[in-house]
Amino acid sequence: MAKMFKFGGSSLKDADSVRNVATILQRFKDENLVIVVSAMGKTTNALEEVIYAHARQDGSAASRLQAIQEMHQNVARELLPGDHDVFALLNDTFVEATWVLEEPPHPNFDYMYDQIICVGELASSRIVHAYLQEVGLPTQWLDAREVIITDDIHREGWVNWEETGKRMESKVLPMVSQPGFVLTQGFIGSTLDNASTTLGREGSDYTTAIFTFCLNGESMTIWKDVPGVLTGDPKLFANVTKLDRLSYREAIEMTYYGAKVIHPKTIKPLQNKSIPLYVKSFIDPDGEGTLISSDVEDLYPPIVTIEQQQTLLSISTRDFSFVAEHHLSLLFKMIADLRLQVNIMQNSAISFSICVNHAPEKIDEFIRSVDRDFKVQREDDLELITIRHAQPDLLQNLRKGKIIFLEEHIRDTVQFVVKEVPMMSRKPVHTEP
Ligand code: ASP
Ligand code: MG
Repeated sequence: MAKMFKFGGSSLKDADSVRNVATILQRFKDENLVIVVSAMGKTTNALEEVIYAHARQDGSAASRLQAIQEMHQNVARELLPGDHDVFALLNDTFVEATWVLEEPPHPNFDYMYDQIICVGELASSRIVHAYLQEVGLPTQWLDAREVIITDDIHREGWVNWEETGKRMESKVLPMVSQPGFVLTQGFIGSTLDNASTTLGREGSDYTTAIFTFCLNGESMTIWKDVPGVLTGDPKLFANVTKLDRLSYREAIEMTYYGAKVIHPKTIKPLQNKSIPLYVKSFIDPDGEGTLISSDVEDLYPPIVTIEQQQTLLSISTRDFSFVAEHHLSLLFKMIADLRLQVNIMQNSAISFSICVNHAPEKIDEFIRSVDRDFKVQREDDLELITIRHAQPDLLQNLRKGKIIFLEEHIRDTVQFVVKEVPMMSRKPVHTEP
């Protein structure tokens, strides 16, 4: 059985960090590993800029892409001899994106996005692969698009588990059973017609979970720049502590509401097969990290997650009739069709409110499409604060300086949808019990 590792962008931001990843992997040189990598550093954001520039036709797309290509070549040059194959492979990878830019912008923006954005993962995996081989770690390179098959909803592809499972078995299993590592890309997949798709931003964790599930991995490890899963975002709160163990359930709750440490879709496939998930530090690989598994005592300290850029939509009928079942089913259908991520919903006699993630185009589309029957009140730039296992003084502290739009208590979860009161800044909050 193989172990599954995921290395994200921050663990691969330059030549030194690639060396560090290789050093970590040396410890596992006699094991079967499947390694999933993201794009290097902030490459995906930079590629998004290329895509927006191309859509705007402002003339800067090609030079922006060129800069990204040069960055990759420079990293490869620091790591590998000048006549290495990797340079030709990198060239081939970027040429395909260049071709897209030579055409007028594709009418389906999301489709075009996926055809260009996948270059980030492809390029980083070429470099890491070449370097691992170079330092004596035999590794096979796999194009994830040949096995991760999704529907054709671009930028938010849903996995076709049946087809993906078959390809894992016929293509990846034989690779895994050979000695050495298998290295592939996170985030990207393809339709049955071979168009590139993606699983949503930060989707590489999810890719790794798909591999782990389909190949019955022994465990999955996400290598991060933090010591493990923390009780809050260290950039926002003082005194956060590391959680040594978490149940799948707790991890799903935390990540669904914005704990950025793991992609929310990651946990479920692992839970279904009771495969342990480790979150460990690539800066301190000896650290114990966090183990996420079943059967953990439900004794947690307060855990705070904050999701920014939320929009609250309060929907009421134009004829003031109650928002009743048939209305709700209409609204739910629109939400599902648009794949809006709803974080909270609340129903009152004449209005139905949802708090959704930042997705301006989808939100506009939603409002347009229900406009005939419903009036929608909209408030942007809100924060969703979720507190698990809260204590009263912590809640008090979190409410300070905020306008509260919506508040909900369900069992051991409290949620606020808030806006900062202007001119008041957040105070450090102690999340320790
Ligand atoms: N590179 C992609 C992103 O930044 C996927 C990932 O990192 O998980 O969104
Ligand atoms: Mg990334």
